Amino acid sequence: MTPESAVPEVLRALDDHDEFIILGHEDPDADCLGSQLAAGSWLERKGKRVHLCSAGPWSRPEIAEWESRFSRRLPKIDPDRSGLIIIMDCSSPERTGFPGDSWPDLPVLVIDHHAAGSDYGDIRFVDPSSPSTTLLVQQLMETAGDPPNPEEAEILFLGFCTDTGYFRHVEPGQSAPLEAVARLVGAGASPAETFRLLAGGRSLGSRKLLGRVLDRADVYFDGRLVLSWETWKDWRELGSERDSDMLYQLLTSIAGVEVAVVIREQNDGNCVVGLRSITDLDVADIARFFGGGGHRKAAGCTVSGDLNDVIEHLMQIFADRLD
Ligand code: 5GP
Ligand code: MN
Repeated sequence: MTPESAVPEVLRALDDHDEFIILGHEDPDADCLGSQLAAGSWLERKGKRVHLCSAGPWSRPEIAEWESRFSRRLPKIDPDRSGLIIIMDCSSPERTGFPGDSWPDLPVLVIDHHAAGSDYGDIRFVDPSSPSTTLLVQQLMETAGDPPNPEEAEILFLGFCTDTGYFRHVEPGQSAPLEAVARLVGAGASPAETFRLLAGGRSLGSRKLLGRVLDRADVYFDGRLVLSWETWKDWRELGSERDSDMLYQLLTSIAGVEVAVVIREQNDGNCVVGLRSITDLDVADIARFFGGGGHRKAAGCTVSGDLNDVIEHLMQIFADRLD
C-alpha cells in the first residue's frame, strides 16, 4: 500500500467528523506546528470545530508567536459530537507528551513522515519519502480542491523550510516537493520573510551559547564524528533559547566530519541527545537504540545519566559503526 492510497480515506474521515483535537510532538518545531495550524485553519474554513494542543516546551523562537493558539491540556469532547484526534509529525503516541490514558476515547488519524516508530492510530497517512509533514497536509488540501490561503501557505512553507534546513537537505529527484512549495510561494508565502524568521531575532545569550558549544567541540574516530555539549549551568546563565540548526550547520562544516552529536544536559538526571549525519550513516538507528527516533540524517533521543556517562555510552555505540 502506498502512502497516497490513504488520501481518500483521510479526506473522508475529515468530512465525516465535526470536532478535531490536533496534536503534534512535544518540544514542537515548525513542521509539526505548521501542520497543526494549517490543518486546523483549513478544517475551520470547512465549518469544523478545532482544538490545537501541544505539550510544549516552546523553546524555539521562530514559533513563539503561535504559542497562545495552543492549549497544554486536552479538551473533553461532547459525546454527542463526532470527534477525531489528529496527530502530526509524531512517530509514537508517547512523543505527543500527553499520556495515553489522558486522551479522550476517539479514533486517531496519524499524519507523519518519520521512517520508523510505532504503528499506532486507526488511519495512517505516513510517507517517509516526504521532506516534511506540512507537505502531506498541503497534499490533502490540494487533493480536496481547497488550496492553502495566504496564511496557511506561509506556515506550511515555514514547516518545509525547517525540516529541509532551508532547502539544504533536498535530495536529487525531489522536484515534486519543490513544485509544491512553489505553489505556496504563489499563494503568498515569502521565502525572504521565512528565512528572516528562521535565522534572525535571536538573543545575545543564544549566540554566546553557540560560542561555548563550539569551543568545547572535539572530533573522534579520525575526525569523522564531532561532539559537543551544553550544560544546565549554560542554560541558567544564557537562557534556554534553542538554535540547533545553525549549530549543526557549523559542526558539520568541519572537513571530514560525517556525524555531529550535541548533548544537552537537563536538570532531571537525563541528557537530550541530538544527532545529524551528512553521509549514509543512519543516525535514527543510533537514536532508536536509546529509545528515541527521527530520520536517517536527523534524529534524537533522551539518555539517562550524567554528561560523562552519556558521552561514554554514545561513543561505545558509535565505535561499532565508525571504528
Ligand atoms: P532535533 O535534534 O531537532 O530535536 O530532532 C531531530 C529529529 O529527531 C526530529 O525529526 C525529531 O522528531 C526526532 N527526535 C528528536 N528527539 C527524539 C526523541 O526523543 N524521540 C523520537 N522518537 N524522535 C526524536
Ligand atoms: Mn517533521
